[in-house]
Amino acid sequence: MNSNKKIEQLKSVDLSLNEINLIAVSCDENGNITYVSPATESIIGFKPESLLGDKWWDLTYFSKEEGQIFKQKLCKTIAKKETSNPKPYDRKLKCKDGSLKWIEFRDSFTVDNRFVSVGVDITEWKKNEEIKVQSDTIINSIDSIVLVSDIDGNVIFASPSVTKMIGYAVDEIMGDKWWKVTYDNEHNANYIKNSIYKEVFLDLKKDANFSRQKIKTREGTYKWIEWQISKGVNNTYISIGTDVTSRNLTEIELKKAKEFAEESLKAKNEFLANMSHEIRTPLNAVIGFTDLLLETNLSAEQIEYLKTMQNSGNILLSLINNVLDLSKLESNKLTIEEIPFNLHNKVKEVVKLMKIKADEKGINLNLIVENGTPTQVKSDPTKIGQILLNLIGNAVKFTNEGSVILTVKPLQEEGKIRNVYFEIKDTGIGIVSNKINTVFGAFTQAKSDTSRIYGGTGLGLAIVKKLVSLLKGTIKVESVFGKGSVFKLTLPLKQISKQVSDDKLNLNHSQEQQLDLKVLLVEDNKTNQLLAKIRLEKWGCKVAIANNGIEGVKLTQKEDFDIILMDIQMPVMDGFEATKIIKNDISEKASKIPIIAMTAYTSNAEINRAMNYGMEDYIFKPFKPTELFDILKKYGNVVKANHDKEKEKEEVQVTPKNNNYKKYTDLKFLKEESLNEDSILILLIEIFIKDFEEYLKTFEIEFKNKNWEKLHAATHKIKPNISMFGIAKLDPIIFSLDTKFKNETNLEDVEILFEKCKEIFKIVKVELLNELKSLNHE
Ligand code: ADP
Repeated sequence: MNSNKKIEQLKSVDLSLNEINLIAVSCDENGNITYVSPATESIIGFKPESLLGDKWWDLTYFSKEEGQIFKQKLCKTIAKKETSNPKPYDRKLKCKDGSLKWIEFRDSFTVDNRFVSVGVDITEWKKNEEIKVQSDTIINSIDSIVLVSDIDGNVIFASPSVTKMIGYAVDEIMGDKWWKVTYDNEHNANYIKNSIYKEVFLDLKKDANFSRQKIKTREGTYKWIEWQISKGVNNTYISIGTDVTSRNLTEIELKKAKEFAEESLKAKNEFLANMSHEIRTPLNAVIGFTDLLLETNLSAEQIEYLKTMQNSGNILLSLINNVLDLSKLESNKLTIEEIPFNLHNKVKEVVKLMKIKADEKGINLNLIVENGTPTQVKSDPTKIGQILLNLIGNAVKFTNEGSVILTVKPLQEEGKIRNVYFEIKDTGIGIVSNKINTVFGAFTQAKSDTSRIYGGTGLGLAIVKKLVSLLKGTIKVESVFGKGSVFKLTLPLKQISKQVSDDKLNLNHSQEQQLDLKVLLVEDNKTNQLLAKIRLEKWGCKVAIANNGIEGVKLTQKEDFDIILMDIQMPVMDGFEATKIIKNDISEKASKIPIIAMTAYTSNAEINRAMNYGMEDYIFKPFKPTELFDILKKYGNVVKANHDKEKEKEEVQVTPKNNNYKKYTDLKFLKEESLNEDSILILLIEIFIKDFEEYLKTFEIEFKNKNWEKLHAATHKIKPNISMFGIAKLDPIIFSLDTKFKNETNLEDVEILFEKCKEIFKIVKVELLNELKSLNHE
C-alpha cells in the first residue's frame, strides 16, 4: 500500500471513529502510544496529540506510578499476543478537568500486528448500575415488604422480604395471587383493591381504611401489616408494608389494661360508696345519740366519756369522708361550683373554727388579710374552706409551741381574675427534706410515727393537692425540719362587685330555736327514725313517720306536711319512686311540699338522680344537727313564710293592728302545749319567772366563783324554757352562754351577755305579769 493510500485510509478510520464516539488507542511493543482517536477529546477532554508517547500513561491515570504499572502489564500482553479473544475490562480514566469516567476497553491486534484498544464511555451505565445495586441492597435488607402493583392491582414486583415476613416465596404472590393467598375473604380483598385504585388513580377520598390490614401468612397465622401506598411510574403503585402485629397486640393489651383499670376503679368507687353507706348509717346513730345525750343532764364524768366518744365518731366520719373525697377526685367525679362569696369572711370563718384547737394547744393562730385582697369573689367556697381547714389543721396539729399565721394577699390581676396568695406558716416540727416532695401523695406521712403521735392518715394533703388543681391553682411547701413549715397556695378567683349576703357565714346556729314544722320522716332504719324524731321534736316540729316509700305516699295523701325528709334506700318502695308519686300524682298541694333526700351515699350520680326526681335538696347521713336545722329552716321557712303571709292577710282584714310594739315573748307554743288551760298556763308562767330569777342569782354567785361547770348546768337547764316562751331575743344569748360554759372558751364577753340577759328579762317579766293578770281576771 503506498503511503498516500495509507494516509487516506487512516483518515477515513479517524473520521468513522470520531463519528462513533469511541476512544481508540494504539501502541508499539514498548507501550508508547502511537495513536489516539479524535473522539477521545470529546470524551475525556485531552487533545489526542497531547496523549501520545508516555503522556497517555501519565495523564489518564490516577498517578504516574499506577500508569506505569498498567503500561508494563500491556507490554507483557503485547509480547505474548494474548488478546486473540479479548475480554472487555473497565477502567476509570482521569479527564482533563479532573473528573473520572468509566471506560470499557477491548484490546486487539491489527493484521499488521499493531496493538489497538477501543473504549466505550460507560459512566452513565455504571452510575445506574451502582444505584441499582444500592436499591437492591436496600430492598433486600429492609424488613418491610415492598410491592409494586399495576393499575389492576396485580403485583409486578415484590421484595424478597415478603418471604421473611409472611412466608411466601416472591413467585407465590405475584400477579393476582397476592389477593388470593393473603386474604381470607375474596370480597374483602376486592374491596381493598378497589379502594386503593380509587384513591391512587382517581384521587377519590378513601372509602376504606387500608392503612392497617390483617394478612394471612403461608402458615395460616395472621399478621397486622401497616401500609403506606404511593403512586409509582407508568400506572403502578408502590405499597410498603410494616409488620405491626406486636404493636397491635400491645395496643390491644393496653386497651384491655385500661378497661380493666377503669373497671377496677369503678368497682373500687362502688365498694367505697357501699362501704361508706354501711359505715355511715350506724355512725349516724352513734354520733347523733352522743350529741343528744350530751344535751341531757349528766355528771362531769359522763360528759367526759361522751365527749371522747363524740370525738372518735367525728374522726371516723372525717376519715370516711376523706377516703370518699379522694376516690371521687381520682375518678374525676368531684365538680367545682362557682358561687359568689365573701372571701374575707370565709378566711375568718376558717380561722375561727381552728382557733378552738389552737387555743387548746396554747398556740397563737393569727390571720393577716393584706390591703387590696378582694372581698366579693366567685369560686367554690366549700372547697376553698376545705383546703384552708386542712392546711391550717395540719399546721396547728404539727405545732407544739409558737404560732400559725394565715396570710392572704392579692397578686396580679388577669382581666376579671384576681390571683390570691394564701400562706400558712407555722413554727412546728417541720418536714425532713427528703420527704418534702412526698407529703402530697396519698397515704404518705413524713415520718412513720406521725400517725401514732399526731393521728391522721396522710390523705389530707393528697386531697388538698387535687382540689387546688381542680380550682386551677398551685401549691407548694417549704420547710425546715425542727423549725416550721410554710404552705404557699395561689388560687385564681373571679372578682365581682355585687355584695354577697353573709347569712351563710353566720356560724351561730341557734339549735334551740323553734322551727314549728310538720315534718314527714320517711326512713326505714328504726334507730335513725328515733334519732331524727327526738331531734325534730326538740325543735318544736310535729313528726309523722313512714317506714318506706309507700307509707310515705299514703301519709302525704291523708295529711298536710311542711316538709318531707326522704331516705333514698328503702325496702318496698325507695325514695326516688315515692318522690315521683308525691311530686306528680297526689295533688297540686302535695307536689309543692319540699322533699329533702337523706342519703349516706355521696356519689354525684345519686344526688343528680334525686334532683331529677324532683327532690329539692339533700343532706348526707350522718348529718350534724346544725345541718339538719339549716335545711329545715331554709325549706320550712319558705312554706311557713307563705302560710304566715296568708295568715297575716287574714289578720289584717279581721283585726287591724293598733300599735307597732313587738312583744318579747310569744306564748303561742306554750298555749298549745297547755291545751289552752288557763290554770296550767298560769302555773307554767309562774314557774318560769321563779326559775329565771333563780338562774340570775346562781349566775351572779357562780360567775364570781368562776365555776363554769355549774354555770353550764344552770344555763342548760333554763335553755328549753326560753324557746317555750318564744323569747327570740334571749335565745341566741342563752345559746351562746351555754356553748361558752360547755367548752370553757371565749369567756371574755360573758359578763356583757349576762347584763343583756337581765335587761331582756326585765321586759319579759313585765309582759308575763301582764299575761298573768289577764289570765287571773278571766
Ligand atoms: P395527715 O395529716 O393525715 O397525716 P396529710 O396528707 O395532711 O396527712 O399530711 C401528710 C404528712 O405531711 C403528715 O403526716 C406530716 O408528716 C406532713 N405535714 C403536713 N403538714 C405539715 C406541717 N404543717 N408541719 C409538719 N409536717 C406536716
